[in-house]
Amino acid sequence: MSRIIIIGGVAGGATAAARLRRLDERAEIIMFERGEHISFANCGLPYHIGGMIPDREKLLLQTPESFSRRFNIDVRIQSEVLSIDRETKEVSVKNKQTIYTEGYDKLVLSPGGAPVRPPVDGIDSERVFTLRNIADMDLIKAYIKSNHPQSAAVIGGGFIGIEMAENLQEAGLDVSIIELSDQLLAPLDMDMACDVHHHLRQKGVSLYLNNGLKSITERRSLTVELSNGTLETSMVILAIGVKPESQLAKDAGLSINTRGGVIVDRHMRTSDPNIYAVGDAVEVTDFVTGQPVMIPLAGPANKQARIAADNICGIPSEYAGTQGSAVIKIFDMTAAATGVNEKTAKRLNLNYDKVFSWNSGYAGYYPGSKFMSIKVIFEKGSGKILGGQIVGFDGVDKRCDVLAAAIRAEMTAFDLTRLELCYAPPYSSAKDPVNMAGYMIENVLTRKAKNFHWHDVDALPRDGSVNLLDVRSSQEAAQGYMDGFINIPLDSLRERIEELERGKPVYTICHSGMRSYVAARILSQNGFDVYNLSGGYRLYNAVTTCRD
Ligand code: FAD
Repeated sequence: MSRIIIIGGVAGGATAAARLRRLDERAEIIMFERGEHISFANCGLPYHIGGMIPDREKLLLQTPESFSRRFNIDVRIQSEVLSIDRETKEVSVKNKQTIYTEGYDKLVLSPGGAPVRPPVDGIDSERVFTLRNIADMDLIKAYIKSNHPQSAAVIGGGFIGIEMAENLQEAGLDVSIIELSDQLLAPLDMDMACDVHHHLRQKGVSLYLNNGLKSITERRSLTVELSNGTLETSMVILAIGVKPESQLAKDAGLSINTRGGVIVDRHMRTSDPNIYAVGDAVEVTDFVTGQPVMIPLAGPANKQARIAADNICGIPSEYAGTQGSAVIKIFDMTAAATGVNEKTAKRLNLNYDKVFSWNSGYAGYYPGSKFMSIKVIFEKGSGKILGGQIVGFDGVDKRCDVLAAAIRAEMTAFDLTRLELCYAPPYSSAKDPVNMAGYMIENVLTRKAKNFHWHDVDALPRDGSVNLLDVRSSQEAAQGYMDGFINIPLDSLRERIEELERGKPVYTICHSGMRSYVAARILSQNGFDVYNLSGGYRLYNAVTTCRD
């Protein structure tokens, strides 16, 4: 009978334990968890703070007793593993005041990642919080209940920071987000995060971009000194990322990368064949680029845990990499991303191109339909889909999931055009936004469309050497005039085509890039060399005003 020890009892740890038991009824399985709770819903924590999940118990998916009963696992909470002796195959464990050792045949590490706490003055104030577990959530909830804070400053505009901002706002506080870079939500590119900036501001959340935390001073309120100004607030939430909890692995001499990630092979095995590691603490391979990366997400942690358990039980399953599929609710908005973004594609010098589209989530004539902004990164030539980002309202998640599946299946844009997706007016359009993205890329690859982008607009010559054409209606053009562009509404273009100077390229725009594409087709078939603004004036305007 083999003896398996698991360190960490939440996402990866509990999944590994359950899978191990399902595969091997006779193994002795001990799961150590430092905290009081196991298998809780970390991802749901912000929503209890905001009141969306009023019942705290709903977050406790399993208790040590229920887990133990169902899976016959020896669950030991409040038990911190202090060290691993790989020679004797023993771990030493601290439970309250007692320290003891336990032997193992196989060991699974799923210690997760700890919130980063920058070493600045005032960081240890009792009014500065992080959110990782039930205890952290209880502290924040209790603080709000007994102190009635007016305001909160969230440091870090990533997924957890934005979820906390929304939920604190829902709990009645005035919220500010402080972010070091010039955009929120790093998995998105700036041109996709811009709609998130606008939406948060519209909901009353203040954004301090390009701003780092310098210090916190405790007075009646907290004075938060930023690299660019100061802010008075009642409480601070630190959400600037997580750091792998890999000290244990490091002390045991396991291979670790420079960011502290435990290095594992495709079987989730560490540099010691008897020790597996999974979850936020491990380095993974980026599915698209093949690069080593750290991507702390629940889905990958669960998959890796199952694979580690399989391998311990003799099933040689393999982890094929992480593509970073992620989604977030921002009040009534949704943002989602999968695969590589443009920042990464640029950094790695990939041979990529991009399209932007602006589609209705479902049939425009069905009440309540709203638009979503889509960006797809694809490989030049082959049209292979490398990444997708979507920001909008209904149906964002499912479109991003289709792109995620397309990336996994190594599909091209031509494949996207062929996907037969579910359609009825309340859900989609006969040409689904994913099909539309495929068509747009196909048009680029087959040279039916040549695009230019929002970042090219300001540099276009205004000296008459090119035609700058706006095909929106005159009312639309009056609302947001673009410097140097002449307005010929699309429906008059054929009659007024001679107003354009032949022999000079045409740069054409409309609201979303759709009518200007039609214009481009008319003009190119009339002998013009035409470039279409992908994403249109809407995207240009959203990006150029979102850092204000
Ligand atoms: P964890 O789930 O963090 O579990 C690690 C456990 O190990 C901890 O409980 C810790 O106490 C214990 N431990 C560490 N060291 C020891 C030791 N020496 N001895 C004993 N026990 C130890 N991901 C998504 O994909 N979508 C989301 O919407 C999402 N939302 C999130 C919201 C919040 C607020 C948080 C905190 C995370 C969220 N995540 C989300 C991330 C997701 O929860 C993690 O990726 C996932 O939990 C990682 O699993 P893990 O097993 O590696 O670590």
